[in-house]
Amino acid sequence: CGIVGYIGHRQAYPIVLKGLQRLEYRGYDSAGIAIYDGEQISLCKTKGKVEDLRKKAEQAGITKGTLGIGHTRWATHGVPNDINSHPHYSNSGDLVIIHNGIIENYDAIKKELTKRGYTFTSETDTEVLVNLIEDVQIKQNVKLGKAVQIALNETVGAYAIAVFDKKKPNEIVVARLGSPLAIGIGEDEFFIASDASPFIEYTQNALYLEDGEMAVVRRGREVKVFNIQDDALVSQPYIQELKL
Ligand code: GLU
Repeated sequence: CGIVGYIGHRQAYPIVLKGLQRLEYRGYDSAGIAIYDGEQISLCKTKGKVEDLRKKAEQAGITKGTLGIGHTRWATHGVPNDINSHPHYSNSGDLVIIHNGIIENYDAIKKELTKRGYTFTSETDTEVLVNLIEDVQIKQNVKLGKAVQIALNETVGAYAIAVFDKKKPNEIVVARLGSPLAIGIGEDEFFIASDASPFIEYTQNALYLEDGEMAVVRRGREVKVFNIQDDALVSQPYIQELKL
């Protein structure tokens, strides 16, 4: 299982796809990708190999856009099939998430959300999380980063996540607890991945999130790291120089 993301000025699809290939060694049963061109999200996911995803995506014509996320899934909640594969949308269709790990209290959260009219197309804990984030965002009228922070404090479990909001196409929010997450810092571009292998050819500067940290990654601007528990800004996150 692995996650990959890109936000910058290049076409995201080839970077994300190649990144998923690099993470194949981690093991998985399904793979998926979402690319956003500023107007439309094109999403493709499938049970099977990254190679199956590539064929399906290229047949469907999923190629444009400078923001993208990709996922290899190791199913924990819901059988391996196309629908349970990530990325997952929120009910509005605005939020898109990828997640490695487990949300242990997803069932209680799902019941709560269902009472308030949320519906679910997959059996995953991940789809519950993205709708919880959306619910917080709407109810409390907060930005995506804040909504992610509040939502994660309502969960018990482990995760590496990346989520973006179609209405705010210049940022990706990531968070880590118990599953690795690295951010590659390029020139006016950022990479996200479970380890540095998907981005080492583009940049040697990497920021590894610590457990309990999240980051807001802004296109052409900066990466801000926060503590998930109390939302405190991590003032000088350590940027490591990778050796080739
Ligand atoms: N718990 C999630 C699922 O079953 C994520 C699994 C993973 O780590 O890939 O979809």
